Amino acid sequence: MIPNKLHFSSKLPDVKTTIFTTVGDLARKHDAVDLSQGFPNFEADSRLINLVHQAMLEGHNQYAAMPGYFGLRETIAQKIEKLHHRKYHPEKEITITVGATQAIYTAITAFVHPGDEVIILKPAYDCYEPAIKINGGIPIVLQLAANGYKVDWDAFKGKITNKTRMVVINTPHNPSGRIFSEDDMLQLQEILRPTNIILISDEVYEHIVFDGKEHQSASRFDDLASRSFVCASFGKTFHVTGWKMGYCAAPAALMHEFRQVHQFAVFCVDHPVQRALAEYLKNEKHCLSLNAFYQQKRDFFLEGLKGSRFTFKPSQGSYFQLLDYTAITDEPDEQLAERLILDYKLACIPISSFNVNNRDDKVLRFCFAKKRETLEFASEILTNFSNSEG
Ligand code: PMP
Ligand code: GLN
Repeated sequence: MIPNKLHFSSKLPDVKTTIFTTVGDLARKHDAVDLSQGFPNFEADSRLINLVHQAMLEGHNQYAAMPGYFGLRETIAQKIEKLHHRKYHPEKEITITVGATQAIYTAITAFVHPGDEVIILKPAYDCYEPAIKINGGIPIVLQLAANGYKVDWDAFKGKITNKTRMVVINTPHNPSGRIFSEDDMLQLQEILRPTNIILISDEVYEHIVFDGKEHQSASRFDDLASRSFVCASFGKTFHVTGWKMGYCAAPAALMHEFRQVHQFAVFCVDHPVQRALAEYLKNEKHCLSLNAFYQQKRDFFLEGLKGSRFTFKPSQGSYFQLLDYTAITDEPDEQLAERLILDYKLACIPISSFNVNNRDDKVLRFCFAKKRETLEFASEILTNFSNSEG
């Protein structure tokens, strides 16, 4: 029985249900083609699925080591060294987590004290701010201009105070599809160099970068690496977002504090899946083929929109494409996203919910991690919509 006088006060009174749940539920209710939440609608490699089954049959069904199965941590360390020339010690500097979300949440919880400031760049993926607030931290936001969402590093520097404990960056960026250049990372490095600030570098789309560009991981830069949690997601890389598997890499002293929280929040994550990932990750093609795979999908989607009045800059990375609808209608993005579901049976994400004060840039986010026929159908709907309006 629930006592009828149970008093409590919310720790997150102003946080709304995440946009991914709100839009996803509406999309399902109306049977819409769903390009909203970021997940593939095609299957993962059956070899990976078989490896999980095999690990279960081999009896890896009890707890893994607290920081993760060592073999997986070793393979991750080798991958980072090969791609970014940074050595992380698998024993002390890599932890396997429940997706990148837990890595980010745990890193924030381990270091942010009440009253500490944490700088985030808006539009921002929606899990950063609540994690800061629930720990008594103060999010300090820098809103980026809609035209390309480039960072003005002088403006960024102006946000740093003696209370700044942490900065969160995300490259390739969700929702904008922008990537940080080497110059961006160098500027960030110089700004942070004289400070005591910890960096969370959310790199879940590290293997989805287009047009021959390279992913500039924080782990590539000496001073950044020495203060960073580099956070990654197997869900994104291997088309298994529902497995909720990720990891983070950080210098030993930082990782020690991280594990002080991790060991009591989750202890360890799914063991057979870690065994399977360790094996699968040994073949580097499984990661490195992703750029071309998703570039094709981006191009196919955009080609289908040629006859429409949407305007866009092709996404540089991630599996998201922003489309600007200013030439079609001036209604608010949330209203348009809802109308697209109800009247056109197509779901996408209005990005005002990721902006400061829900600033409406008149752009919508579309996830192109979808089968060819889904993308074809979606671009037909969007073209029809665009041509039947106004
Ligand atoms: N960061 C960003 C930028 C994301 O888009 C996502 C979405 N999945 C996450 C973190 C969370 O990743 P995971 O599903 O591995 O928790
Ligand atoms: N990262 C996914 C996106 O941006 C959503 C994951 C989630 O719903 N939490 O669409």
